[in-house]
Amino acid sequence: MQTGSFRWMKSLNKSTILNIIRLHGPISRAEIAKMTRLTPPTVTNIVSELLQDRLIVESNLGISTGGRKPIMLKINSSGFYVIGIYARAKKLDAAVANLDGKIVYECSCFLPDNPDETAFLLELKRLSEKALAFVRREGQQALGIGIGMHGLVDPLQGESIYAPHLHLKRVPVKKYLETELNVLVEMENDVRSLALAESWFGQGRDLANFITVNISSGIGAGIILDHELYQGDSYSAGEIGHTTIDIDGPKCSCGNYGCLEALASGPAMVERAKREIERGRKSILCEKLEGNADGLTGEAIYEAALDGDLLAIDVLADTGRFLGVGLANLINTFNPSRIILHGGVTRAGRFIIDPLLETVRSRALERPAEQVSIVVSELGKKATLIGAFTLVLKKIFAPAGAAETD
Ligand SMILES: [Zn+2]
Repeated sequence: MQTGSFRWMKSLNKSTILNIIRLHGPISRAEIAKMTRLTPPTVTNIVSELLQDRLIVESNLGISTGGRKPIMLKINSSGFYVIGIYARAKKLDAAVANLDGKIVYECSCFLPDNPDETAFLLELKRLSEKALAFVRREGQQALGIGIGMHGLVDPLQGESIYAPHLHLKRVPVKKYLETELNVLVEMENDVRSLALAESWFGQGRDLANFITVNISSGIGAGIILDHELYQGDSYSAGEIGHTTIDIDGPKCSCGNYGCLEALASGPAMVERAKREIERGRKSILCEKLEGNADGLTGEAIYEAALDGDLLAIDVLADTGRFLGVGLANLINTFNPSRIILHGGVTRAGRFIIDPLLETVRSRALERPAEQVSIVVSELGKKATLIGAFTLVLKKIFAPAGAAETD
């Protein structure tokens, strides 16, 4: 498919109907007319176009309300594929999914150490070609490639502004791949992609205002306001990892002191446990590590907590409290209906979550704190990949995508 000929969603009514079929299908033409308040002939015309585009199919007959049984419409989920790529520090992961978000194929590759721009783009192209080859083997068509990339991303230009772990700046990913592969390419920051994944396939489905928070080696958030991903004026919205929690706190990688990330990320948690051990506090972690505190991991701290180790329990509880302060700030600022937690640190379960919830209850304003539900994501380890291919779905289904192609 040529990117220039991408004009499917040129009318707002068309994308509205497509979205209704996606969210409420199987659904009849009459029900669509009722929901959209469009005239039945308009609905019939647009539905014919969507059937011609093969984006929807007619399904089994619906329940009759007296007359002839209506023909139902649903998304042609296996009619097209979308590709998602997760570009992080050392590795690229790719997934091919159908329009229901079901992953049907995966592949990945390691990046060379300190790749320059050319080497990075070449690996990205190779992996994309591998995914596209799978789509062709299946006799299918790929609607596009979505890329969730670490660091600062300009989603409009499809450019990696700064990827700190790769030491790369100003990489024109979209322009390069679209030229080389002749396919639609969409791009977003990896953590903001998580919010999109939740809004289409997870616990943020149909919610107008919610926030995803990723807590792993770094901490970041994806903010959905009025059903839209909030990017910020220069695309750095959601960097809650670098909001100050303790003005006298430890130094952060960003140069500031006492950032949430410097207190509650995976590495920060390990650092605190190490310091306690070095101070001579007793813990089963000391025996396990046999004096070598460098081998300490978040996983080991969690296991020690399960065995009742007080140091480990305290370290996890402190992490939960720091996160609770960070979330209380988010809740007071944005008043979201849900906060969805992602990342390795959430695997420590109640040891972190209980003190986190307790802190939110005591620190956030009463009304927004009562209304928000704080949950752990159910999308699993592939959430970023899901978010990446959702970028393509969003471009195709959403009216906002239509305006650009008109
Ligand atoms: Zn910082």
